[in-house]
Amino acid sequence: MAVIPETERNTVWEQIPANEIVAPENKEEISEIIAGAYRDRKTVLPIGGGNDLFTANKQFDIGIDLKNLASCFRHTPEDLTATFPAGMLFSEAQGKLEESGQWIPLNPPENGTSTVGGIISANRFGPRRHRHGTARDWVIATTVVNGEGKIVKAGANVVKNVSGYDLNKLYIGARGTLGILLDISFKLAPIPEKRITFRACFSTPEEALGMSNQINNSPVEVEALTVVKGRWAAAKANHWWVLIELMGTEQSLADQSTILSSILEKSSANRWGEASKEDTQYYWKTTQLGNNEASPPIAEATISIPKSKVEQLVYNFSEGKPDCSLKILPASGSVIVKLTEGSDRSTFVDQISEMDGTVEIIGSGVSSVKDRWPVAPPSLSLMKHLKKHLDPHGLFAPGTFVGGI
Ligand SMILES: Cc1cc2nc3c(=O)[nH]c(=O)nc-3n(C[C@H](O)[C@H](O)[C@H](O)COP(=O)(O)OP(=O)(O)OC[C@H]3O[C@@H](n4cnc5c(N)ncnc54)[C@H](O)[C@@H]3O)c2cc1C
Repeated sequence: MAVIPETERNTVWEQIPANEIVAPENKEEISEIIAGAYRDRKTVLPIGGGNDLFTANKQFDIGIDLKNLASCFRHTPEDLTATFPAGMLFSEAQGKLEESGQWIPLNPPENGTSTVGGIISANRFGPRRHRHGTARDWVIATTVVNGEGKIVKAGANVVKNVSGYDLNKLYIGARGTLGILLDISFKLAPIPEKRITFRACFSTPEEALGMSNQINNSPVEVEALTVVKGRWAAAKANHWWVLIELMGTEQSLADQSTILSSILEKSSANRWGEASKEDTQYYWKTTQLGNNEASPPIAEATISIPKSKVEQLVYNFSEGKPDCSLKILPASGSVIVKLTEGSDRSTFVDQISEMDGTVEIIGSGVSSVKDRWPVAPPSLSLMKHLKKHLDPHGLFAPGTFVGGI
């Protein structure tokens, strides 16, 4: 097993607050490290691609770089299932499936250096959440090292697993605080033959959200639908754009396009039509942070809110702010907003909390757990019990997750 000396740490690793960084090559090595940490009461930080390692200014005894854990890929195309080592790059995983015309239908924001384990541990999602949901809908089995160093499995490589609790779900979005993911099995979907994007421009959020509702209630089978304004709109950033992605065969796309066009034709859209290839790429691939733009955001908030309250939240956030930037996934109650220097974060957070929502903030001014997850979830005390049970000595990334877990 490689121990990465401080002098040889690369630019990502030199930021990592760990006394020692190790890069194990197999499950057994990881199990031994964790068993040792359990015995010696050491703390551990799991490291994937290192793109989103939130450490809340804590120092850890051991950083475990999981990128050497990249072998043992298994794919059974006839069953539409595959198992990936947690350290494999997500882009590489999708590339392997593509050869058989299949994919994991998640399109999280990432730059090609994120690992399968990191994306699942952070539970990242993209605009295709509209149709495909999140990792919780696609992960069917996990192998994990628990807080005592034991290797445990949950789930099975079958698309419909009907027996027992679905323990996999515990590890999705746990940010490495319950154990280290060693491998992850997914059910898969066929890659559609073709995709096209329509866009329609509206003057107000009410019109844009009303249109998205109407499309959702129509027979059109939408792959992704977002309402964007500001930095997520390729042109006319002060307008509210409804972006609609359709997918299917050539024939079904022609049929869907006809229905969608007749809906848009009768709407109050200032203009609408099929998006150019360039704009389509911008809409669906654009990263959430780090775009080259004149005034990059200082922080971004991802809000989850009951769907019935999305319109009110958007109205509260955008009223009197012509320069605001929002990306809304109306069907899942997700709203991503850009926060600027002048944003009053505490009023913003109070409003979300009053609407029974939760929020995750990343970027500048976020150093504590409370900055990142300012609204504690109602299930926090249950989460603390689970943490105590699965990680009895509290060795996995303590104090870095919601509620200080
Ligand atoms: C709101 C938001 C917007 C983002 N936008 C972008 C973007 O535009 N572009 C982009 O490239 N990235 C973006 N990211 C980061 C993106 O989510 C990460 O690239 C990805 O989630 C993490 O991949 P990673 O392999 O780098 O994981 P890491 O950053 O290394 O780890 C992420 C978390 O998972 C834990 N972890 C990692 N591997 C494991 C494992 N095997 N077992 C258990 N725990 C593990 C880590 O301890 C950490 O808590 C964004 C993140 C957020 C929160």
